[in-house]
Amino acid sequence: MHSCPCAKWNFALLPPTGPKFRALTGKAVEKILNYIGGALVPAASGQWLDNVNPATGNVYSLIPDSDQRDVQQAVEAAEGAFLAWSTLPAAERSAILVRIADLIRDRCQALARAESIDNGKPVSLAAEVDIPRAESNMRFFGTSIVHWSSESHAMEDRALNYTLRKPLGIVGCISPWNLPLYLFTWKIAPALAAGNCVIAKPSEITPMTAYLFSGLCREAGLPPGVLNVIHGRGGTAGEAIVGHTRIKAISFTGGTQTGRHIASVAAPKFKKLSLELGGKNPALIFDDCDFEATLANTVRSSFSNKGQICLCGSRILVQKGIAERFTEAFVEKVGRMKTGDPLDPQTKSGAVVSEAHMNKVLSYIALAKQEGGKVLCGGYQVHHEGALAGGYFIQPTVISGLGPDCRTNREEIFGPVVTIQVFETEEEAIQLANASEYGLASTVWTRDLSRAHRVAARMESGIVWVNCWLLRDLRTPFGGVKNSGVGREGGWEALRFFTEPQNVCVAF
Ligand code: NAD
Repeated sequence: MHSCPCAKWNFALLPPTGPKFRALTGKAVEKILNYIGGALVPAASGQWLDNVNPATGNVYSLIPDSDQRDVQQAVEAAEGAFLAWSTLPAAERSAILVRIADLIRDRCQALARAESIDNGKPVSLAAEVDIPRAESNMRFFGTSIVHWSSESHAMEDRALNYTLRKPLGIVGCISPWNLPLYLFTWKIAPALAAGNCVIAKPSEITPMTAYLFSGLCREAGLPPGVLNVIHGRGGTAGEAIVGHTRIKAISFTGGTQTGRHIASVAAPKFKKLSLELGGKNPALIFDDCDFEATLANTVRSSFSNKGQICLCGSRILVQKGIAERFTEAFVEKVGRMKTGDPLDPQTKSGAVVSEAHMNKVLSYIALAKQEGGKVLCGGYQVHHEGALAGGYFIQPTVISGLGPDCRTNREEIFGPVVTIQVFETEEEAIQLANASEYGLASTVWTRDLSRAHRVAARMESGIVWVNCWLLRDLRTPFGGVKNSGVGREGGWEALRFFTEPQNVCVAF
C-alpha cells in the first residue's frame, strides 16, 4: 500500500456534485444520483433513501431508491455502448482507465474524507489504504490488459487451435460497505479493461464515493453507457441486476447469506458467478514467533477498520508456551485503543458502519458472555459527547474462554471483537483453525520455516499470510473456500472471469 500523495490534512470540500435539497432539518443535504448512459440522474421511482453518517447518527445525504426500471435503462445504455467499447483497441481502453486512476490520485483528499464520513473509518485509513488502493485497482487492470495474451495449441501437422478471449457483454458488479471504493473498483476495473460494459451497485450504506467516482469517469472521457452505477437497496436494485437476463455475469462481494441467495437466482440463468463472501479468519501464533512483530500485527489484523475487513483475523489461536504473556500484552495494547472522530487525522479507531451493525456486534458480545466467555477488555458501546453523541462506537473487545463449537467462534461478527483460544500442538492448531464453515484467510506466525510451509499447505483458506498480514500483490489469486465463496479475483483470474474463451481450430 502506498500513502495518499496529499501531505497535509488540509481537506478540500468535496468537489461539486449533485443537486442539494433541504431536508426537514433545514440543512442542505446532498442528493446522490445514478450514473446511467453518461448522465447523473435520479431514480425512476422519484424516491430517496437516507444516508447516515455513522459517527454522528445524522442523515447527511440521500440515495436514489432505484428499481428494475433504472436497471433496465442502464442495460439499454450498456447495450448501446458495448460494440464500440469492446472493439476499441486495448491501449485506448487502457488510457481511459489510467486517466481515471490519475483523477483518483489527484482527488485523494476529498475521496478519503467522503469515505470517512460515509463509513465511519478514520480518514487517515481511507487516505492511506482505501483511496490509494482504488487508484491502484484502476491502474493495475488498466495496464494489465495491454500485456494480456491467450493460448494456442498446435496439433503437430494437422491443425492449430487458438483461444480468443472475448468480453462477456454486460456484467453486474455488486459491492459491500466495508471497503467501499476499494472493492467497487476492484470489480469494475477488470470488467471494463476486458471490454465489458458494467452495471455496478455499491452498498446503499456507503454510496458516496461510487457517486463521486461517476463524476471522475465523465471527466476522464469514459464513453457514456460503458459504466452505469445504480444506487439503492439490495432487495430491489441489486435483485434487478442479478435477475436481468441480459446481464451475463455477476461479480459479488458481501455476506454469505446474500451470496447464497444470489447464486440461487443467477445459477438457473447460467450466469457466470464470482462470490466473495464472509470469513472467520484464524491467526495461528506459535511459541517461536517474533513476539513483538506478532503482537503489533495481530492488533492491526484484529481491529483495522474496526474489524470490518473481510481479511481481519477474528479467532486468535496462541500456543501454550507464550499464551499468558501474549494475552496480557495484547489486552494491554487493545485496552489503550480509543475510539474518536473519524475525521480527526489522529484517530485510529472510528465508528462502526451503522446502528444496525452496532447492535448486531453488541448482541454477539452478549452471546459470548452467555456462552461462558470472559471479556478481557472492551465489550461495550462508547458514548461520546457533542457532535459524536449519536454515533455508533464500540470499544475494541477481546474475549477468552470459548471453544471452537460455540456460536461466537463459528459465526461471522465482522466488528471489533476477537476471541483467544490456546493450543498445545501444531496439529491442534490446524484442527482449531479449520474448525470453521468459512475459509477466506489465515495468518501464521512462526520463525520455523518448515512449519510455516507445512501449516500453510493445510489451511482450508484461499489466502495464507506467514509472518505478515494484508500484504497484497494484485497479481495473486484472491478469494475463499467453503462458505467464503467461489471463484477468484485478482490478476489474470479476474480477466479470465470477465471473458469467455472461444477455441478456434484451423486445419492445415
Ligand atoms: P451484504 O451481503 O448485505 O451486501 C452486499 C451488497 O449486496 C450490497 O451492495 C447490497 O445492497 C447487495 N445486496 C443485498 N441483497 C441483495 C440481493 N438480494 N440481490 C443483489 N444484491 C444484494 O453485505 P454487507 O453487509 O454490505 O458486507 C459485509 C459482508 O461482506 C461481510 O460478510 C464480509 O465478510 C463480506 N465481505 C467479503 C469480502 C471478500 O472478499 N470475501 C470482502 C469484503 C466484505
